[in-house]
Amino acid sequence: MTMKALALGLAGAITISLGAAAQTYPNRPITMVVPFAAGGPTDTVARLIGQSMTQTLGQQVVIENVGGAGGTLGAARVAKATADGYTVLLHHIGHATSATLYRKLPYDTIGDFEPIGLVTDVPMTIIAKKDLPPNNFQELVAFMKANRDKVSLANAGVGAASHLCGMLFQSAIQTVVTTVPYRGTGPAMNDLTGGHVDVMCDQTTNTTGQITAGAVKAYAVTAPARLSTLPNLPTVGEAGMPQLEVAVWHGLYAPKGTPKPAIDRLTAALQAALQDATVKARFADLGTEPVALARATPDALRAHLTAEIDRWAPIIKAAGEYAD
Ligand code: ASP
Repeated sequence: MTMKALALGLAGAITISLGAAAQTYPNRPITMVVPFAAGGPTDTVARLIGQSMTQTLGQQVVIENVGGAGGTLGAARVAKATADGYTVLLHHIGHATSATLYRKLPYDTIGDFEPIGLVTDVPMTIIAKKDLPPNNFQELVAFMKANRDKVSLANAGVGAASHLCGMLFQSAIQTVVTTVPYRGTGPAMNDLTGGHVDVMCDQTTNTTGQITAGAVKAYAVTAPARLSTLPNLPTVGEAGMPQLEVAVWHGLYAPKGTPKPAIDRLTAALQAALQDATVKARFADLGTEPVALARATPDALRAHLTAEIDRWAPIIKAAGEYAD
């Protein structure tokens, strides 16, 4: 066999094996990294769509919780994973805000990931342990200002959505309280209901049940309009602080270089999950809904991530000391 024939043969073999891999993808479980602790709101969204994607893909989507450092440890784990379609990241708005909050991240927020699609936009609620004295938002503000040395504010670390909301809140009331970071707001919620920490901002995907059960006090929702699931809860706009409005958008990513056929299958499975009646019903119970399918695409997520990095950078810089 001549060298040329050998080379052609090799090229043919490579093409065939890549084609076969694309056709058989996925042929083993897929790891979906959640950059926060189990039992929290990001974890809840991941498990709901993961279950549906498991059915569509015919392979188990296994959730791996890599909490800590506001979601940046989990994002780093995926940025460095093999780009073969078997590791994905379910992250939220923190993927955009951490780009400004951290002097140096161990990954490139845009360059190290392949976007798969947007998932859902979840509002946050401002809540407290149930025996904290204030009974409405104005009283909460006055209480925090008067007790700045005593009040503790839980969050999931610098870069988390709870951090962003807490930063906006402290900046709006020009008051720094003591921040208590957790690996996720799942464990933080345990401490809040246990009365070990005072105040927290967290997604409705974690707080709706606790608010409805009276396990925590709720003061406001960070949405532009009241939620049908929590109709008595005023919006931050009604409470006089529209600058606290924030939608915690969630996106699904793979490591940079993941083959396009795998990205396409993952996008299709995500879109199927967002149309799954069970997912829709659970999302609705938790005060949210799937994004429109046109947003559950790589292009829409790429554009949104870039726009959100640009949108939050000046706000975070202006918040100065409240951003620590
Ligand atoms: N809600 C959390 C946050 O503050 C994360 C989580 O535990 O899901 O970003």
